[in-house]
Amino acid sequence: MPEFIYQWGRDQALTADRCFLCGADLARGRTDEHVFPQWLLRRFDLWNEKITLLNGTLMPYAQMRIPCCSSCNNEHLSRIEQTVGDAFAEGPEAVSALDATTLFLWMGKIYYGVMFREISLLADRRDPQAGAIMTPEFLAGFRTHHLLMQAARGVVRWRHDQHPASVFVFQAQEPTHPRARFDYVDIINFPFFAVRVGTTAVVAVLQDWGALAEAVTVPGLEAARQLDLHPQQFRETAALAAYMTTLFNRVPKHVMHAAGDHVGMFTLPIAGLSAKPVFDAFDVGDYAHVLSHVTGQPIEELYDGRNIVTLLRDGADQPWAVPWSADEHCFPDIRLMQQ
Ligand SMILES: [Zn+2]
Repeated sequence: MPEFIYQWGRDQALTADRCFLCGADLARGRTDEHVFPQWLLRRFDLWNEKITLLNGTLMPYAQMRIPCCSSCNNEHLSRIEQTVGDAFAEGPEAVSALDATTLFLWMGKIYYGVMFREISLLADRRDPQAGAIMTPEFLAGFRTHHLLMQAARGVVRWRHDQHPASVFVFQAQEPTHPRARFDYVDIINFPFFAVRVGTTAVVAVLQDWGALAEAVTVPGLEAARQLDLHPQQFRETAALAAYMTTLFNRVPKHVMHAAGDHVGMFTLPIAGLSAKPVFDAFDVGDYAHVLSHVTGQPIEELYDGRNIVTLLRDGADQPWAVPWSADEHCFPDIRLMQQ
């Protein structure tokens, strides 16, 4: 009986003295992995810009570093950063052309890294105001994601015709100010990731095994594909995909086998034996809360109980090119869409 080279209970680090990726004890050498890569911080001058953590704490991107062993950092992850950084420098076509696993691992590291960083905050709680952000028990719940991340080390592999995520790549408008050319959206508790980097926006459901991309049509996402997204439209697109993530109602099931130098994974058909759609019905009122959260706009200005504002489609349901520049943020109330 071959032994599994990766084991959750043993290899998922839940404390800051081990490598966040492979679980190696760092007593004999620790490196810091930037959650948000250095090329990104450099390109958009983000070192002192702050990210809002789950409990509302603000932390500079430069301090978003997590414990990592040298081989995960300097071999596996730096190879991914190099490839992905080059693609973002080129634009959406190059990002779309990236190997799907490479892009997934890049997004997955940031997504998981933000949560892991929050665990370290508990350990060095210099700021007594900072409440409990993330507990080790909570992070342990993301063990499937941690398992998938092992593909960065080649230790886990999934079938070439299966993929963990639904990924959407969009063209984005670039504001004049470098710092405004980067944006990031996440939502608590759901494996969702959205980022706008220069002229490229990427929105992903990280563990639906392609369901959002293949099993449903979301008119707003379809419109977004045809647009050069204004920063506000990016936020709306992210909100839409984030809300859809919350509607996904299956827990993907995997069959694992030990194959010597890796763990092989096969994912069973997402719908399973049930004829029920894999996404719950879209509820405009519920979506309005997500849209309000992601855009920072009061819900009353977005939703009148029946209609909801969209900047993605016009009254004839066609993709809408916003008439103001990427440097301006406007909130006209004329674009009420009935869903
Ligand atoms: Zn490691």
